[in-house]
Amino acid sequence: MPKCTKCDREVVLLVNRVAEVHFYDLTLDGDCPSYEETSFETFGQGDFRCPQCQELLFSDLNAALAFLKEVPDATKP
Ligand SMILES: [Zn+2]
Repeated sequence: MPKCTKCDREVVLLVNRVAEVHFYDLTLDGDCPSYEETSFETFGQGDFRCPQCQELLFSDLNAALAFLKEVPDATKP
């Protein structure tokens, strides 16, 4: 079972935090603003954090995947 290098607790998954920007068309519906999402843009693969302590463990997807390969199959979500 892999352990977090920051808090030393066993982890079976990583929290993937990804930045996105959403684009909306803004119109008025009477006096109320109305937003319609038209698209969104994702920036990179994000970073990968420990679900226990929330510390950054990896900023590279391949490193995160290599870490998760140490999780036994029976405990995989
Ligand atoms: Zn941790």
